[in-house]
Amino acid sequence: MKGLIQDQPLLISSLISYAGLYHGEVEIVSRTVEGPIHRYGYREVQRRSRQVAEALLSLGVKPGDRIATLAWNGFRHLELYFGISGLGAVLHTINPRLFPEQIVYIANHAEDIYLFLDLTFVPQVESIAQELKSVKGFVVMTDEEHMPRTSLPRVMCYESLIGEQKGEYAWPKFDEQTASSLCYTSGTTGNPKGVLYSHRSTVLHSYCVCSVDGLGLSGSDTVMPIVPMFHANAWGNPYGAAMCGAKMVFPGEKMDGQSIFELLDQEKVTLTLAVPTVWLMLLQYLRETGRKLPFLKRVVIGGSAPPKSMIRTFEEEYGVQVYHGWGMTEMSPLGTVGNLKLKHQGLPYEERMNIKSKQGRAIYGVDLKIVDAQGNELARDGKAFGPLLVRGPWIASGYFKGEGGGIIDDEGWFDTGDVATLDPDGYMQITDRAKDVIKSGGEWISSIDLENDVMGHPGVAEAAVIGVPHPKWDERPLLLVVRNEGVEISKEELLDYLRKRVAKWQVPDDVVFVDELPHTATGKLLKSKLREDYKNFKLP
Ligand code: ADP
Repeated sequence: MKGLIQDQPLLISSLISYAGLYHGEVEIVSRTVEGPIHRYGYREVQRRSRQVAEALLSLGVKPGDRIATLAWNGFRHLELYFGISGLGAVLHTINPRLFPEQIVYIANHAEDIYLFLDLTFVPQVESIAQELKSVKGFVVMTDEEHMPRTSLPRVMCYESLIGEQKGEYAWPKFDEQTASSLCYTSGTTGNPKGVLYSHRSTVLHSYCVCSVDGLGLSGSDTVMPIVPMFHANAWGNPYGAAMCGAKMVFPGEKMDGQSIFELLDQEKVTLTLAVPTVWLMLLQYLRETGRKLPFLKRVVIGGSAPPKSMIRTFEEEYGVQVYHGWGMTEMSPLGTVGNLKLKHQGLPYEERMNIKSKQGRAIYGVDLKIVDAQGNELARDGKAFGPLLVRGPWIASGYFKGEGGGIIDDEGWFDTGDVATLDPDGYMQITDRAKDVIKSGGEWISSIDLENDVMGHPGVAEAAVIGVPHPKWDERPLLLVVRNEGVEISKEELLDYLRKRVAKWQVPDDVVFVDELPHTATGKLLKSKLREDYKNFKLP
């Protein structure tokens, strides 16, 4: 027997319709590439997203067509989020930090037919425009006054293009399983692969963004997603903010400590989200200037493991609650969020801290399990560790155009490539990326744990631990360290520091001081490069 409830498709356009109707005056504040701060309300976002849709239709765009963006977090990018998906086309957010040949590969693979770009990226796109086979036109996201002189062919100005439209477009209804947006994983090995989200997955994921034990976004928040809109849709925040009518602040291209602080302070941001490298810059700025964060209530840190010292600094020195989250592009991206349970409220701070520094707790909508090498499920005891598998209604079932073959098993489980423990309450702790684990004499050493410990040393700005080949033990850990400016620390001092914190056999065999460490386009340590660079390193 079927239930007698209306069958309303879950469509992205419904999010902006809601926000436009009930939160029309709530502000979207953007630091523009042109310079000034721009502000307007959801009512205008809704009208201008409709203009975007009308403009695209007038250019001949059809449902299913891929439309690319190379853009920072800003109001025009937001309009494209709703305008493109709203008409049934696919928003393809490209990460501008990728190498030019990767961008060419991605745009050709996706068969993007229009490319919208911020002023910043005009020179970058000029140099590859001839290689973008399917692109019929380039739209520079600015007004006539700021249109650059450019060699880009078939170029248009965003404001002129949408300015001609009425903004009365009626969002169409279609199947909620329709593709809505496309995001390629950075592909540290092999070619990037496309994750194709649907309207349904995006709306369901938005409920999680707005649920209290999810990201807890609400209509009384001012949220600043610093995580880029080209990195797993800014972790779903643009959609979630529309769902609850939160005020939104976009930092544009300026992500240095001072610029971020100014927006946090001036706009009274209550919730902000970014990867650890961004927080390192902000915390350094705060330390140097003595500024405080009186309005900020919550910080979400994800994308890679934050050092414990970072969580502490936010909480103890600035009174800001830290939520450690974990996810992947393939997971829309929310997988776990580090909220505490009722039973934890009375615990001593140190114990709460230990729970908080784990990658987070299972949320409704994401099934998690860990398995052994044979695929047998391991105990949820917080001790056993193995490959982490996930499944759920906002998790990829395959990559765009079948790239990489089947990615889920018969029961729908997707292997995240992470190795983790799970405890009975659902808290998950990543031991390592499967490919970064250091295999020493049959034992596994967690590079993440070592990095976390080293980062607790005040002289260390950033650290990476990799396995290098060893004749007797297969692999031994090598520690690479970027020192804080003006600080002298010796190899022995660091190793001593670690000897007090980890088992003897886990202490790295050597330390190398470097000026900087390589990162991926989404800000993670690029360990594949480090392993390559140090593969012939002679351990003492
Ligand atoms: P990419 O950067 O390659 O596009 P994602 O952003 O999807 O990919 O990265 C997902 C991976 O990032 C996860 O599988 C995990 O290894 C790592 N990651 C994400 N959040 C955390 C975290 N809080 N702690 C440790 N690792 C994390």
